[in-house]
Amino acid sequence: MIMQSTPVQLGTKDDRKAQLSIPAIMGESAVDASLIPFAQRPVIILGAGIIGCATARQLLQQGFSVVLVAEFLPGDQDIYYASAWAGAAWHAAGGITPDQRYLQAVTHRVLLQMAQDPESGVSVVDAREYLEQPPAPDSAIWGRTVVSKFREMDQTEYPSDFHCAWAYRTLVTDPTRHMPWLGRQIRALGGQFVRHRVQSLQQLYEMYPESRVFINASGLGSKTLTDVLDDRCFPERGQNVFLRTDQCHTMYFRNGQEYTYVIPRPQSKGVILGGVKQEDSLSPEVDLAIARDEIARAHRLAPHIVPAQPAEDAVRHIIGIRPSRRGGFRLDATQAATRTVLSAYGFGGGGYAFSYGIADALVKMVEQAERAHVIV
Ligand SMILES: Cc1cc2nc3c(=O)[nH]c(=O)nc-3n(C[C@H](O)[C@H](O)[C@H](O)COP(=O)(O)OP(=O)(O)OC[C@H]3O[C@@H](n4cnc5c(N)ncnc54)[C@H](O)[C@@H]3O)c2cc1C
Repeated sequence: MIMQSTPVQLGTKDDRKAQLSIPAIMGESAVDASLIPFAQRPVIILGAGIIGCATARQLLQQGFSVVLVAEFLPGDQDIYYASAWAGAAWHAAGGITPDQRYLQAVTHRVLLQMAQDPESGVSVVDAREYLEQPPAPDSAIWGRTVVSKFREMDQTEYPSDFHCAWAYRTLVTDPTRHMPWLGRQIRALGGQFVRHRVQSLQQLYEMYPESRVFINASGLGSKTLTDVLDDRCFPERGQNVFLRTDQCHTMYFRNGQEYTYVIPRPQSKGVILGGVKQEDSLSPEVDLAIARDEIARAHRLAPHIVPAQPAEDAVRHIIGIRPSRRGGFRLDATQAATRTVLSAYGFGGGGYAFSYGIADALVKMVEQAERAHVIV
């Protein structure tokens, strides 16, 4: 994944004064933001998936006032609301930059603290990762500095068809619990949710003319917002199997051609079997051939957890569209007249693993923008 980082262009002191004294820019209602006290200008977040909500929580904890505007809110279940459907395991991503690794490390730190509260839906689990090939120099091995109890497994401990294997402890997040919990946390901290679909960021500026900082965490929405139209964004369908079982405390991960995972959900008494990425289908219908293949792969990986033919009533299907982006996710700041717009979208299959690190980075970017808006 690639993180783009454009320095915030805030202009000179005189530029800013001039901009702030033109309230009716682009036809919005006349509000002179310079007359509104700093603390009364909410930060506006477009999108209430894991990225928007994680960021809202961290901003609220810093004392910012926050409004989230979104079509889908925590607790909703729509295939285009990716955050409802994730696995969601913390797994170190391969092929990412040191800065991006750190975003994942921060996420791990925050999730580890959340795991102390069972209501958060975050749990600490054992993990077994089997590699078909020797790890590449930029592989997921960097994660051993983040997870606990990392060790290279002895050859006697894993199937002989793998090159090597790692054991460690990691974190899993159950989105069916985490998103509603996050929603409650945000409300308790004074954050506001507004259910509304916008066609453009401009529409959002007109809804909140007093605000100066806007965060675009709209996931796939950035493909169609008329003043974003990011043609690198694309939908990537995922379909997983939820298998009800008491054997739900160890994650199994197969790294290589036959990319397969068994992600435990201890609180929901089951495991998630996957995975698949499809650009050619956006169907909300269950593809039984995919489900059968996922069960077969998971059975090969963890036969003591996943039977070859699980009972029908122990199986459910999960379908969600990942908000992917060619070239990697966007995390940057731009200026739109007097407003600072922070973009954070395109997380594909890694939104949970990056979430709280992205939130932390965005809080720092909001601080930088607000400083320039306040110290005029
Ligand atoms: C099957 C599956 C398994 C996955 N497994 C994992 C995993 O193990 N680990 C992991 O890290 N990630 C995983 N992911 C990926 C993860 O779910 C996503 O990366 C993450 O949820 C993206 O979050 P987001 O907030 O960017 O987007 P979303 O959750 O899609 O939220 C976007 C928000 O923007 C709003 N919005 C968009 N456009 C508009 C508009 N025009 N007006 C108003 N609101 C708008 C939406 O309503 C929504 O609130 C998985 C995904 C799937 C589908």
